[in-house]
Amino acid sequence: MNLGKYIWRNGKFINTEDAQISLINHALHYGSGAFEGIRFYATKSGPAIFRLPEHMERLHYSASVIELDIPYSAEELCKTTTELINKNNFKSGYIRPVSMFGEGKMGLNPHGSKIETFIAAWPWGKYLSDAPIAVGISPWIRIHPKSLQCDAKINGHYVNSILSSEWAKRNNYQDALLLDYEGNIAEGPGENIFLVKDNKLLTPSLGTILAGITRKTIIELAKNELNIETEETVLTPDDLFAADEAFFTGTAAEVTIIKSVNNKQIGSQKNEVSEKLKKLYLNVVTGKVGKYDSWLTKD
Ligand code: PMP
Repeated sequence: MNLGKYIWRNGKFINTEDAQISLINHALHYGSGAFEGIRFYATKSGPAIFRLPEHMERLHYSASVIELDIPYSAEELCKTTTELINKNNFKSGYIRPVSMFGEGKMGLNPHGSKIETFIAAWPWGKYLSDAPIAVGISPWIRIHPKSLQCDAKINGHYVNSILSSEWAKRNNYQDALLLDYEGNIAEGPGENIFLVKDNKLLTPSLGTILAGITRKTIIELAKNELNIETEETVLTPDDLFAADEAFFTGTAAEVTIIKSVNNKQIGSQKNEVSEKLKKLYLNVVTGKVGKYDSWLTKD
């Protein structure tokens, strides 16, 4: 993994090889941190970070859920991220900001631990396949909203995603789909899901899922560019099997079309709407649709 020459940590750019943490770090033991995943793309006018302020605002929101007071504003973190990309001379890739309870306390209440905040970046290609993928419904359900606050991107929450992702690979699926505690469709381990039915988009309502920034982007693009409305609603596995098309969305996954679920093919596989949205999304993130330039942060 090429992390470049620099990582930003607690207000300073430091050499990547000096970016070490203590073994007695609260988040390392208990998952008490918040993080983000952001992509930046090569455009005609240099690297552009997609919807950076929204990601940094979500980082602050996630941190607030565990009463972690990040000592840098979302704005400061945005500025730092741009500098990091430039200093490392990266053209395109992935950005990982993390803020966490660090050293100082080992009881479950983390208050009093040092807050550690860092941003690392690296060049990164496709996360899932460019071709439509086979998905399996995971026996692990998405975390219950009364166990953890599921709309926050908290490090410890991701064991749920790891378990379902491992289950999928073990069962020869390319990714998993998690249901919620009521048996309705929730999301992928690191993606939101959309169905296409009768030229309309359907997606699970917020409540047991992460409010994905790609999800929001797709809802906006479908409406503005394709005149397609999205209904946020309760969706069952039967709705999915009856859909014309289905796709995942996520910063890492971008728009990834789903070809089958539990080895049952979804729709006729023409995927006309999904293909249009996938192409449009890639054009928008790479700065080819001027109208959405305000979503791109360039130096
Ligand atoms: N759900 C989960 C559980 C995720 O980890 C992600 C990735 N951040 C998403 C959905 C998609 O969110 P976004 O589009 O903001 O990357």
